Amino acid sequence: MTIERRQFIQTLGATGLLASMSSTLGFSLSHAASGARVIVIGGGFGGTICAKYIRKFSPSTAVTLIEPKKNYFTCPGSNSVIANLRPMTHISHNYNKLGAEYGISVLHDKVSSIDSTTKIVTLKGGGIHNYDFLVLSPGIDFKSDTIEGYNPNDETFPHAWKAGEQTRLLRDQILSMDDGGTVIIAPPTRPFRAPPAPYERASLIAHYLSENKPRSKIIILDGNNDFSKQALFIQAWKKLYPGMIDWVGIKDHGGFSAVHTPYREIVTNSGNHFKGQVVNIIPPQEAGLIAIQSGLADDSGWCPVKPDTFESTIQKNIHVIGDSCQAGDMPKTGHAANAEGKICAAAIVASITGRPIMDITYNMSIYSLISPKYGISMSENYQMIDSRITKVSSASSSLKAKKKTRRKEAQYAAGWYKSITSDMFK
Ligand SMILES: Cc1cc2nc3c(=O)[nH]c(=O)nc-3n(C[C@H](O)[C@H](O)[C@H](O)COP(=O)(O)OP(=O)(O)OC[C@H]3O[C@@H](n4cnc5c(N)ncnc54)[C@H](O)[C@@H]3O)c2cc1C
Repeated sequence: MTIERRQFIQTLGATGLLASMSSTLGFSLSHAASGARVIVIGGGFGGTICAKYIRKFSPSTAVTLIEPKKNYFTCPGSNSVIANLRPMTHISHNYNKLGAEYGISVLHDKVSSIDSTTKIVTLKGGGIHNYDFLVLSPGIDFKSDTIEGYNPNDETFPHAWKAGEQTRLLRDQILSMDDGGTVIIAPPTRPFRAPPAPYERASLIAHYLSENKPRSKIIILDGNNDFSKQALFIQAWKKLYPGMIDWVGIKDHGGFSAVHTPYREIVTNSGNHFKGQVVNIIPPQEAGLIAIQSGLADDSGWCPVKPDTFESTIQKNIHVIGDSCQAGDMPKTGHAANAEGKICAAAIVASITGRPIMDITYNMSIYSLISPKYGISMSENYQMIDSRITKVSSASSSLKAKKKTRRKEAQYAAGWYKSITSDMFK
């Protein structure tokens, strides 16, 4: 069912990430007594939120957040960095407030193994920690050996699908390419993290090229035959970047058989060779390695969970949220990870205190920038139907929207970023 966007946003209360979720979950921010120990693995969109909301719902619960990085770079906003519209500092955040204001014990280390029988996690640095409840939000990792000659760690083909050094690499390649060069962007077959993000990336790179290297081209070699917000993207490309972006679906290029690193070249199953001055291969993905190594994923490479608690259906007292989990119709986005983090926090506190959780509604919106002043978006609402998170309504920007509305949506995108990162780190 598609409903009018304005009505949808009103129903969702979409700007109030915090308010909507605390009332949705039927939890007042009361102090539940507890001596429980919770460990959260991964300080990104899901993990920070889950750790923080457990402390908000139950301040006497000891929460440890384990994350190797001292500075977390968000993927949202990283396409603007790649297109030289924002500095790296714009997407960098630290964990100081989570410790100082919320009493979360933040350990900068990497979990190397989980023993679900003894309920112990072991860190790369040698530390050993006991838990009563364990939450994993380790994001994604890349499937290996999917294309002959390709290695996701090869700096010749930066993926920039985990933000940080990779973002910098791709930006620097774009900035140093010649006018008249070709940029290839190669998204994998779904499911992957942030379905509209490859096309936002193409748009913002086109914005940079049209202002600085207008003879250049972008070719998208897609692992799919259609893509998120397709009609809106295509309409905007025709308008803002005519002739600059070519999109080729997998039925036309046949998939990739190999890459030739020295020539920055992709060879397709249909026998064509695509050469780029910049080649951004976004590799096929699966759950974060620690989830896979701990036996929490099934054959799909993602972790099955109960939809109302995000507890693993494979191992008890271990919850998996964010990109790593199978969340029914919810896509792998930061907004979805935020919602899952809160639902999971409420479920763990309910388990500790013996209180029931009330109604759960799930929602998610995602903005994409076509240029700094041209934004589009889509929002979805979900309900649990037959034990599955199922999409029940959606809305997206209108193809008929005026310039003023596109400009407003670009401002809303900035507001969304500020609001969600404040929720995570402030
Ligand atoms: C270019 C791009 C643009 C995007 N734009 C948007 C957007 O506009 N809106 C949106 O909603 N989403 C967007 N996303 C998607 C969003 O970034 C992800 O969906 C979100 O980060 C998922 O959160 P997560 O907690 O699952 O993983 P992450 O945020 O990636 O966090 C995982 C963390 O776990 C840590 N970790 C991994 N293994 C271990 C271990 N063994 N021990 C300890 N820590 C570990 C990692 O260091 C990492 O910090 C975008 C993604 C990309 C690539």
